Amino acid sequence: MIEVKNLRKSFGKLEILKGIDLNIHKGEVVVVIGPSGSGKSTFLRCLNLLEQPTGGEISFEGQSITAKGHDINVTREKMGMVFQQFNLFPHKSVLQNIMLAPLKVKKQQAAEAEKYAMELLRTVGLEDKRDAYPAQLSGGQKQRIAIARALAMQPHVMLFDEPTSALDPEMVGEVLEVMKQLAVNGMTMVIVTHEMGFAREVGDRILFMDGGVIVEQGTPAEVFGHPKHARTRDFLSKVL
Ligand code: ADP
Ligand code: MG
Repeated sequence: MIEVKNLRKSFGKLEILKGIDLNIHKGEVVVVIGPSGSGKSTFLRCLNLLEQPTGGEISFEGQSITAKGHDINVTREKMGMVFQQFNLFPHKSVLQNIMLAPLKVKKQQAAEAEKYAMELLRTVGLEDKRDAYPAQLSGGQKQRIAIARALAMQPHVMLFDEPTSALDPEMVGEVLEVMKQLAVNGMTMVIVTHEMGFAREVGDRILFMDGGVIVEQGTPAEVFGHPKHARTRDFLSKVL
């Protein structure tokens, strides 16, 4: 579904991504782990061109999205993204937050958009919050709404950048549970997280990034159970 070839990204003279090669398959759950500053967010943001790569090539569903003339907006509709800071629209209700993009971008009819939004609210367990405003929600609820909002565009892949890092510990589980359900239902996902238990349980593949490269990748059993590289072992010894 996603093919990344020799992806490079510099900010000024500083090279942050130093040549990343990766194929992500339909239905796969890829979990990206690694120390702070290793380029995980930059990598994720390059996948939907929130950051413009300085080198290399990215294809999505067989089409190069880094080629000149490609309309990234069309591709972005198929890539849902969830951030650490929920980025909900504060002056819109939960239902309006979820319906906004389907109405504006997909030009859906209001009734149709609302019907699907309510379905998604059921999926994330927040039907009763349809008329609430973001400020009235807990962090965990906000993040579940942010997930529902991303899903409203019926994306083909979901990108998560540390979706539970801003949450109080008691709210982490409810968000991970929603993500786990998505995985079980076959959603293709790329997830940056420090939740190692979740990574191990839900990930099909674990990527360990350090210094702008993928140092090591494999199944959870391989990477967590038998890390090959000293840098991976060192990182895991600090977080496990
Ligand atoms: P991670 O998500 O693994 O913590 P990031 O991808 O956020 O790492 O950042 C990797 C490096 O790139 C960091 O040193 C960070 O300061 C730098 N960086 C990220 N975004 C920018 C930017 N817009 N301008 C300059 N430097 C950046
Ligand atoms: Mg980051």
